[in-house]
Amino acid sequence: MIIFSGGTGTPKLIKGLMQIMPPEDLTIVVNTAEDVWVSGNIITPDIDTVLYLLSGRLDEHKWWGIEGDTLRTYEAMRSVGFDEGMMIGDLDRATHIMRSKMVREGMSLTETTQRMCELFGIKAHVYPMSDDTVSTMITTPDGKLHYQDFWVKAHGEPEVLEVSVEGLPQAMISPAVLDALNNEDEVLIGPSNPITSIGPIIDLPGMREKLMDKRVVAISPIIGAEPVSGPAAKLMRACGYEVSSTGVAQRYQGLLDAFVHDVRDDPLGNDIGSPDCRIVRADTLMRSADVSKELARYVCGIFESM
Ligand code: GDP
Repeated sequence: MIIFSGGTGTPKLIKGLMQIMPPEDLTIVVNTAEDVWVSGNIITPDIDTVLYLLSGRLDEHKWWGIEGDTLRTYEAMRSVGFDEGMMIGDLDRATHIMRSKMVREGMSLTETTQRMCELFGIKAHVYPMSDDTVSTMITTPDGKLHYQDFWVKAHGEPEVLEVSVEGLPQAMISPAVLDALNNEDEVLIGPSNPITSIGPIIDLPGMREKLMDKRVVAISPIIGAEPVSGPAAKLMRACGYEVSSTGVAQRYQGLLDAFVHDVRDDPLGNDIGSPDCRIVRADTLMRSADVSKELARYVCGIFESM
């Protein structure tokens, strides 16, 4: 199974999938449009979350960073007035340093991710969506901000006028992802931000065509009229989508064979614009490992019945 992932909602589902499938059967295609260089190191937040989850070290209270990490380096810099604007843990920073060294030596993001998987003893396949630089930018009344500057430094507070993904029209799907898409038939779009996490993956040139002959199932990250976490509501509104599972399904229009939304939602009508798409409801609020596992089982059942 190929899973399209961001760094919070879909990892919760991957936690469930890990309980019912051998890791070798999981191919995770991860968003890279939130990547950013900080203090000389490239940070790939969504890949790191997936790597830490798969190696059993993720801080599952925050759903980012390493459990029990410390902030000594960050605090040492801040104490002399050097504020990175992003709280980077010491162990997390070690990952960034290793990856950045490999990138400087000429390795692609796919190769560095493969190497990190080996170093961390990860058996699942983790691939960045692209080896090219792609950056989600948020236009605010005061100018354009990198997504990380909007969400982490400015706490998601500025008004959002537009969301654009720089570099996307020229970016290529990474060769490893292409290979996986040529060999696998099931694609799961996890419950991640449809604008900043899934949008960049499905909008990569050629991706829609690749998905045409796949069985594609998506899970909504919106319950009722609110995301479970993060800035999806503001960003969906700015992109002209209703903040609801209907809005999410419309963002994925034309791609889906099945769409899972939460039991707490009212049942969706046929106004989602995908007449051939099966619409089902499940408990998608993954507050525990058991709910993640149950949802993972449910999704596997959908693929089996297709
Ligand atoms: P990011 O890269 O950190 O922004 O993370 P993602 O894009 O992977 O995840 C953020 C999205 O996941 C938000 O839109 C949340 O609403 C959604 N999300 C987080 N936890 C859950 C959950 O338990 N269930 C569902 N359905 N969505 C969730």
